[in-house]
Amino acid sequence: MNKDIATPIRTRAILERYGFSFKKSLGQNFLIDTNILQRIVDFAEIGENTGTIEIGPGIGALTEQLARSSKKVVAFEIDQRLLPILSDTLSPYENVKIIHKDVLEADVQGVIDQEFADMDDLMVVANLPYYVTTPIIMKLLEEHLPIRGIVVMLQKEVANRISASPGTKEYGSLSIAIQYYTHAETVMIVPKTVFVPQPNVDSAVIRLTRREKPAVSVKDENFFFHVTRSSFAQRRKTILNNLTSQLPDGKQKKEEILAALAAADIEPTRRGETLSLAEFGRLSDELYSYFH
Ligand code: SAM
Repeated sequence: MNKDIATPIRTRAILERYGFSFKKSLGQNFLIDTNILQRIVDFAEIGENTGTIEIGPGIGALTEQLARSSKKVVAFEIDQRLLPILSDTLSPYENVKIIHKDVLEADVQGVIDQEFADMDDLMVVANLPYYVTTPIIMKLLEEHLPIRGIVVMLQKEVANRISASPGTKEYGSLSIAIQYYTHAETVMIVPKTVFVPQPNVDSAVIRLTRREKPAVSVKDENFFFHVTRSSFAQRRKTILNNLTSQLPDGKQKKEEILAALAAADIEPTRRGETLSLAEFGRLSDELYSYFH
């Protein structure tokens, strides 16, 4: 087997050979611990028939581990300076393709059609750039890609918000948006010491397993998300006060909002953070006709 990229010594040697300087603005914190990488691959349950999409391969630390387990890996990297490094470090792996692109602008479905046409088990695995964690995850979910799930490293605080349950202080519109599409779990807490350079925040790995159908069935997805975001606009306010101040003409439609809350069996004095996804689903369906 080839020598691992993700050891402190090899990583330092690669960075020195290419005179690479980290760009903080691109969230460049590289992993230098093969055990952590192996556990990420295990959580993703990658097998020889799995097609894997990676975001931000860096110098190839995770890409290499994915290439050893997957049928094929396609990785999106925004930083052009990493391309010659990757073609060197990943040269032993014929099943890897690097695409030089900002993943937020990429046609991921088009890439799937082209690169994974003969594969029906697809996973996204990444050590995400922390400055764009949420937009990347939301893009992958909202585009309804044919993936089994997503296993990613991100800030611990964001991981806690994503997998939070109702009634906790971390639970909010991000928890709901992601749990609507997936079953979300925080599977590992990761110390700062396994990265170069070390990030300022603690990290965690989450596993998002895509649901066959969204967690609740609603009349209008966009309106459902609008209602959930509105309900958390000011966390200390009651659901009634948030909805009257956030929904269009909410103040004039207070009676209608009260009627919808009653029909959904939700006390107007509750706070958004106490409502389950099912309750938000009922509420947005009851409000729908008053706002359309
Ligand atoms: N996978 C490597 C590892 O674990 O060591 C590097 C992870 S580092 C946290 C994030 C990587 O994402 C960097 O290589 C960075 O250049 C890249 N990146 C940042 N923004 C990106 C974007 N919008 N699209 C694609 N790659 C991006």
